[in-house]
Amino acid sequence: MHVHGPRGGPCGDRTPRGGGPGRGRPHPHPLLRGRGPGHHRRGGGRVRPGSPEGGDGHDPGGHHRGRRRRRPHRPPVGGHERGDGPLGLRERRVPLPHPGRGAEEAGRPQAPGCPHPPHPGDHGPGAGLPPALLRRAVHRLVLVGGGHAHLAVLASLVESPRPPGEVVLVSEDRHHWYSGRVPAHLRGELEPRELQFDLAALARAAGVEFVEARAAAICRAPGSGYLVHLEGEPDDPLRAAALSLDVGSVPRGARLPGVAEHALAVRPMARARELRERLDTVTRDRPRDTEVPAVVVGGGAAGVEVALALHARITELGRSPAVRILEAGPHILPGWRPKARRRAMDILRRRGVEVETGIRVVEVEPHAVVVERDVGGLQSAPRAGPVREPGLLAVWLTGAAPPPLLAASELPLDDDGYLEVDTTLRATDGAPVWGGGDCISVAGHPPLPKAGVQPVRQGPVLAANLRAHLEGAGDADDGSGKAGEAGGAESDGASAGKAGSRGAPPRHFEPDPTFLALLDTSDGRALLRWRGLCLHTRWARWLKDRIDGRFVERYRSLES
Ligand SMILES: Cc1cc2nc3c(=O)[nH]c(=O)nc-3n(C[C@H](O)[C@H](O)[C@H](O)COP(=O)(O)OP(=O)(O)OC[C@H]3O[C@@H](n4cnc5c(N)ncnc54)[C@H](O)[C@@H]3O)c2cc1C
Repeated sequence: MHVHGPRGGPCGDRTPRGGGPGRGRPHPHPLLRGRGPGHHRRGGGRVRPGSPEGGDGHDPGGHHRGRRRRRPHRPPVGGHERGDGPLGLRERRVPLPHPGRGAEEAGRPQAPGCPHPPHPGDHGPGAGLPPALLRRAVHRLVLVGGGHAHLAVLASLVESPRPPGEVVLVSEDRHHWYSGRVPAHLRGELEPRELQFDLAALARAAGVEFVEARAAAICRAPGSGYLVHLEGEPDDPLRAAALSLDVGSVPRGARLPGVAEHALAVRPMARARELRERLDTVTRDRPRDTEVPAVVVGGGAAGVEVALALHARITELGRSPAVRILEAGPHILPGWRPKARRRAMDILRRRGVEVETGIRVVEVEPHAVVVERDVGGLQSAPRAGPVREPGLLAVWLTGAAPPPLLAASELPLDDDGYLEVDTTLRATDGAPVWGGGDCISVAGHPPLPKAGVQPVRQGPVLAANLRAHLEGAGDADDGSGKAGEAGGAESDGASAGKAGSRGAPPRHFEPDPTFLALLDTSDGRALLRWRGLCLHTRWARWLKDRIDGRFVERYRSLES
């Protein structure tokens, strides 16, 4: 079933109101304002602290085998050089009300979606712009989110001849945070800069405009194209002829009472830094002869890794760890074979990490969690409880849920709320919308595991198909700037695969749920799982570090 954003919902309000960007408005077009190098600030705000140079990434399955050669930077069509984009977009920054934490996570009301649609006479993504800029605006591709697949798209733009059209990257964080190294960061072995890629620098190298802002809703523009509404800027949407989404996922149950206020998280990954700081503060504040009770909610791969890392860090700081994993399901590591699961349980038991299954955390308090237990091993109501259990730290690592941006937008979604794409990674309704990573599902295929390896595999396919779209759109342009207006959103990107266009035929992604899993067990070893094989060795850790290191090197070498 395809579910579009509700008509009466965020994107359904089409009543014209004043203040929208439109033809004949007294103020300049919003995209022409705020020029200048560095981060653009519309409405002030402080750039969050972070290292000027970016950091790390990983290739969990070792699937990224792109070229290492770096080609000289080519400015995008239109010829502007870095720093001062003619559309005034380059490295624009829209301040977030709560840095590093989604509005949805914090339990705040969602952004209003499309509250200020464009002026009725304003058609298409470039309307209101001078002809020279119009041509670029109607071909603008907006990449929403700086996830793994979009790293590959940026790399492709750095390494191969730049296709026509303008590309903009919108990311709520200036950095891509690399999850594979979160355990090492929590143990105190790696600093934040060693977990980050500098998206702004990568975008600059790729000739891509960078906008640091959270996308709150994506709505269809009248005529064709899309309006990307940025949080905190409801009157000033970003216009797009085509879109690609790689916005990851959010933890399930993040709206339960107290979770936003008291639980720690690593999604978005930027919050790993906050977790590390709290962990160190709480641990150091405890007297040496007392325990540090920490609760990890969720027994997936991330929960197991983080629990072991917390245990190692608390021990390292000379305190006594009392780390527990609370898992709602009947066992940890869902989707893993029993043999591998037993191996993981054995590692946890030997380390002294307690695991309880069939237990649901229903509320988080400042120093405790409120839980209910399944009765007789049955995962159904009624459950025993609620009971309050101690936890100086509660880390929320439940499974993945779709980012609320999707429900707030006019996009084709599957029954679970993920962007539904076909094997070309294009939206199943044929709109010029693509996607990759945790936020998509591939129609006709079982859901893929939410792991970084999937967007790493999708990256080259996405890059090729977006490139073909841009090249096809460039061909379709007769110089009048009307290409994007021709046939509405559905036909807008269809030229990518049409006969006679320079755009290549679309490439296909082959969904494969199997992948090499390498869990950092925080003891110098890693737990390797590959089909029926399961090893817990130093060699597995060496392999993980090597795969991670290669991924890091690849993207670091592209940052300008
Ligand atoms: C502790 C931990 C360890 C993990 N280790 C591994 C591992 O070893 N191997 C593995 O395969 N997987 C691992 N995973 C899972 C992996 O991190 C995710 O599956 C992967 O990051 C998903 O990649 P993605 O490209 O979909 O999105 P992400 O990498 O999550 O990137 C999405 C980006 O979009 C940005 N964004 C989100 N919403 C918006 C918005 N509205 N507007 C603008 N920007 C937005 C985010 O800030 C983020 O930068 C781990 C997860 C955790 C929590």
